[in-house]
Amino acid sequence: MMLLPCPWCGPRNVTEFRYGGRAVERPDPGTTSPERWRRYLHLQKNPLGWDTENWYHSAGCRRYFAVQRHTGTNEVRAGEAST
Ligand SMILES: [Zn+2]
Repeated sequence: MMLLPCPWCGPRNVTEFRYGGRAVERPDPGTTSPERWRRYLHLQKNPLGWDTENWYHSAGCRRYFAVQRHTGTNEVRAGEAST
């Protein structure tokens, strides 16, 4: 079982959450080039090691937050509210 640390509800089973993708800067679709927008949507990196991810607590407080997760071991560091 994997626990995720929701900043508002505390540690909960990962089945209560929805994965929100890597926490990367989203380009403005109104001003960015089609190539950069395509890269943002379809060509995200999949690094081995520590990465920052967005998660949504769908079965709890219904808020988004970011956690650092090691993609090889699933070790998780404390979560923080997403902006
Ligand atoms: Zn929560």
